[in-house]
Order: sequence, then structure tokens, then C-alpha cells
Amino acid sequence: MIPADGFTHGFPERTGGVSTGPRSSLNLGARWGDDKANVAANRRMLAEHAGYDPSKLIATRHVHGTNVWRFGEPLADDAEFDGLVCNEVGPVLGAFAADCIPILFAEPTARVVGAAHAGWRGTVGGVATNVIERMRELGARPERVRVALGPSIGACCFEVGPEVVAEFTAAFGAVPGMVVDGPNKQHIDLRVVTRSLLEKVGVQPEHIDDRPPCTRCEGDRFFSYRRDGREGGVHMAFIGLV
Ligand SMILES: [Zn+2]
Repeated sequence: MIPADGFTHGFPERTGGVSTGPRSSLNLGARWGDDKANVAANRRMLAEHAGYDPSKLIATRHVHGTNVWRFGEPLADDAEFDGLVCNEVGPVLGAFAADCIPILFAEPTARVVGAAHAGWRGTVGGVATNVIERMRELGARPERVRVALGPSIGACCFEVGPEVVAEFTAAFGAVPGMVVDGPNKQHIDLRVVTRSLLEKVGVQPEHIDDRPPCTRCEGDRFFSYRRDGREGGVHMAFIGLV
């Protein structure tokens, strides 16, 4: 079914696929040792459900970096990008995550979409705002961009060491709500930081959907690297123009 808003997108939960054990069942990541046939079957099922051609999926290896690929640039099979942008109908962009934030972007007037994977390193490096910058190259305007943060580790569970807190403080200063006290160590709220960065580059506050569920808290719905390690599965958010 073609969505009325001109985009197909989603943040699939972990159910409905064919992978087994701790990766049951809609594991969409191929790097952590799942049966490749299962991952391929899961990706096909998702594409069929969402209404896109599975051969049109563009999903690169993520490296907790900040580089963003723009549609039309060469793309090797082993390309490493944590962000992708596109302004053509057909390709569907994928962003993998299991606790890191999968972020989807859409600019309805210029018809540009983006996807990003943002863990704490990517967040500090500014991968989300790099996506906005590359969308601008394709005619997008930040004030028209809609952004959705997908299921990811919440401040409830993202306990970090003082060295990580120091990196955030050095990069951003005192963002209200960024660092919160936990029972043992301090916690970081990656969503607060992401919102702050996006607003600084001109994304409207009301265009940012930043309260997704916590992947580590909700094990029956989500994979979580902190909870399950590499034995677990990986989600893939997706977005494309239709
Ligand atoms: Zn949690």
C-alpha cells in the first residue's frame, strides 16, 4: 500500500521474523553471526510488509562515525557510513541499531529523506546534524525537516563512566537533562542531546519526535546490546520516498 504522505518508513520491533534463540525473531543485522539466510528472509519479509523492493535497500556498515553518504555518490559494498540521505523515489535507506538511536529524517517539500545510526560517539561527533547538512545540499530546509528518534537505550538504562560524561560535557557544555544521576553511576540522555543539536541547526522543536521506548527495558519488543551483547539481534529503521 502506498502511504498518503509520500514516504514509507518504520521502526520494526523484534517479532515477526524467522531468526531463533536470542535473535528471535526479526533480526535484520548480518554482522553478528546470525544465519545469513534468516537475515535475508527477515529483510524480504519487512520489505514486503512495508511495500518496497528489497533489492532497493541501501544499508551500509556503521562504524560509530559521522560520515553521511548522499544519493548519487559511489557506494562500495563494504562502505562505512552512519548516515544516508536521498532525494529519489525507489531507494530505501536503512539504519541499524540495538540500543544506539536509529534516526529518520523527512523533508516533505523538497522531498528528501535521511537515516542515521547514532550511538554515544556518533552523537558527540554530530552525525544527526551532518545528515541535516547533507539534506540541505539536496534542497531541504531544516525548518521543514521532520525527525523521529527510534527505540533506543533511554536515560533510565544508559549508565556510563566518568570519561564518557566528560566527553559530553566537553562537547556540549551543560545541556539541561543531558547527565542524570543513577543509583550507581551517572547516566546520559542521548535523546536530550540529539534534540538540542537538531534545534541548534534549525529543526523546529515540534518536528522532533524524541520519546521512543527504551530497548533495554523492553526485552519482549526490542533487541538490546547492553542486555544481550552480540548474541542478540539488531533492528533496522527504514525510510524511502514513494
Ligand atoms: Zn531503560
